[in-house]
Amino acid sequence: MTNSYTSLENNIFQLALIPGDIQNRAAGYLIRGPKNVIIETGASPSNKTILSTLKVLEISPASIDAIIVTHIHLDHAGGAGLLMQQCANAILMVHPKGKGHLSDPNRLIAGARQVYQESFDRLFNPILPIAEERIQTVSDGETFDLGNGRQLQFYEAFGHARHHIIAFDSESKGIFTGDIAGVFHDRIHSRTGCAISFPNTAPTQFDPEEMQASYDLMISLHPHHLYYTHYGKADQVVDILKATQKWIPFFSEACVDYYRKNRSLDQLTNYIQDHTVAYLEKEKISIDAIDIKNLEFDNRLNAQGIIAYVQRLQKQ
Ligand SMILES: [Zn+2]
Repeated sequence: MTNSYTSLENNIFQLALIPGDIQNRAAGYLIRGPKNVIIETGASPSNKTILSTLKVLEISPASIDAIIVTHIHLDHAGGAGLLMQQCANAILMVHPKGKGHLSDPNRLIAGARQVYQESFDRLFNPILPIAEERIQTVSDGETFDLGNGRQLQFYEAFGHARHHIIAFDSESKGIFTGDIAGVFHDRIHSRTGCAISFPNTAPTQFDPEEMQASYDLMISLHPHHLYYTHYGKADQVVDILKATQKWIPFFSEACVDYYRKNRSLDQLTNYIQDHTVAYLEKEKISIDAIDIKNLEFDNRLNAQGIIAYVQRLQKQ
């Protein structure tokens, strides 16, 4: 296993997690200091990468003080139980609504098995429970002291999931965004210099009003950086947030109307794909076949989330 990390500013290290079969899809972050903190664990197949990175950086797992997950979706927190076993002195920090799922992951496992079927083991195994007494729930506005005057401040940021938090780092002035700032296309960014992200409406709790409020919150924090889980770091932050926020009505209105008429996941995926690709063309941002495949992957998930949203609206 190769060591796969990038050193960023302010003792922050970006860890290349291993989500399924797509490269550069999920990032975790390590903050090194008086307190050592890992943000996002990915699923358990990422575990070896995290451990080997710690080894290279000469940080023993026993000296990890906290493991923070922005929310409990498996590509963010599936490997938390395994990593907590290895980091024997760490606490796990999560939104209160996520706690029960991490202490007893049976429902998460059953749900994922149903969705991923025979791929489940390869993508997620094992998903281990975390002892309740090691889980510290995080409320809106709460802080975690990293030492030397540095702290992380947590905020609830719903719209993607109703148990989603973000963390603002007082030193880098960056936000660890989880999924709420959308999916950042690092590959396009590194090749073209154009910073592009689209909202993440993946299942099953997309809520456009909450998502708008979360973007307003992130903008109001005047961040200097965004540390995306999907994928990597961005610096021209407020512009990106504002541009991404403008896409929310497309998903909550145009895509909803389109799905109500067509009732097809494939067609809705194509509809979103056509609009995102047309936007990139209009902005004169050149993309290649791999970018198109990556966009398709996101847009299928986004379409699934819109369908879940339409079904929820119907029940109301
Ligand atoms: Zn998520």
